[in-house]
Amino acid sequence: MKVLVTGGSGLVGLSIQQVVEEERTGCEGEDWIFLSSKDANLTSLKETQDVFQKHQPTHVIHLAAMVGGLFKNLNRNLDFWRNNIHINDNVLQAAHEVGVVKVVSCLSTCIFPDKTTYPINETMIHNGPPHESNFGYAYAKRMLDVQNRLYFQQHGHCYTAVIPTNVFGPHDNFSIEEGHVLPGLIHKTYIAKKERKPLVVWGSGTPKRQFIYSLDLARLFLWVLREYPEVEPIILSVGEEDEVSIKEAAEAVVEALDFEGKVVYDTHKSDGQLKKTACNAKLRNYRPDFYFTPFKQALKETCDWFVTNYDTARK
Ligand code: NAP
Ligand code: GDP
Repeated sequence: MKVLVTGGSGLVGLSIQQVVEEERTGCEGEDWIFLSSKDANLTSLKETQDVFQKHQPTHVIHLAAMVGGLFKNLNRNLDFWRNNIHINDNVLQAAHEVGVVKVVSCLSTCIFPDKTTYPINETMIHNGPPHESNFGYAYAKRMLDVQNRLYFQQHGHCYTAVIPTNVFGPHDNFSIEEGHVLPGLIHKTYIAKKERKPLVVWGSGTPKRQFIYSLDLARLFLWVLREYPEVEPIILSVGEEDEVSIKEAAEAVVEALDFEGKVVYDTHKSDGQLKKTACNAKLRNYRPDFYFTPFKQALKETCDWFVTNYDTARK
């Protein structure tokens, strides 16, 4: 098994790399290659084909994407659509051309329909438009599911996808303007503490999210690659009961970083999608005993990593 990981230098890719290194004995007979954009710009078909020809993988974990939080999506919806459509089309076609037997790509719960019933499950991805804030990203990601079905229909390939909720962990993008909510809040709290200023949380604090620790997600990715047999996607999420509000998430960051200053909410900023509560029954059916790291423990580990690696962290 020769596994090529696109997006191997990002939050999820580096977590998979860490878990592969930790599980050395479980990975016997597996050869792992982690790509970054420096190895190939995957928006180019030629560069994508060349890198696949060079490595001749049998299996692919496809993570590479233009990724960002709510505010980056609001500013650059068209770029999200174009970059991700090109990357996904190039990667799946190049995989097909070199005879890759299995590809696991990455969707997201933020591609789900905005007007829907809850909890949302894997059969509901295409039932209505996504939230307008991330229209470009969501439709490009939804097309991955369409492509997977078509590669199966026409060529019989097991090209599948996972659907994680909001991911966080060490090596995240801690950019305040462009990153997701947890790394953004961690960075803002770190600065507020240093400068003795209030922490400004964007929006009302009422939207809800399910968060998954990148190292838990990495372990689940390995299981999907090795054992999950379906072309149909699978949601990788903590339970519905573990959903937290943005206010609760901000309070957890404040606690993890020992911030004693004032916390204020800037309600002029967008709330984005109010919730996207995902159902993890399918995952629980396959993996009833999978252990998710408790949110506060995972958040503390992430905050400690950020403080220790402040100078080199992506921000
Ligand atoms: P990330 O930290 O931003 O990493 C993105 C990765 O994609 C990097 O390795 C980057 O390479 C690579 N990449 C971007 N553009 C590329 C290009 N044109 N050519 C080649 N490589 C390119 O993102 P992440 O959070 O790990 O996300 C991984 C996957 O999970 C994505 O498919 C994302 O949509 C999905 N996902 C993420 C979340 C989340 O909350 N983060 C939630 C659900 C799903 P460089 O390092 O060289 O730039
Ligand atoms: P989403 O889950 O795809 O909407 O993306 P985010 O991870 O960016 O989360 C957005 C939610 O967090 C919205 O309700 C924002 O109003 C709220 N939020 C609060 N503070 C921040 C912040 O500093 N950065 C970001 N990205 N979102 C924040």
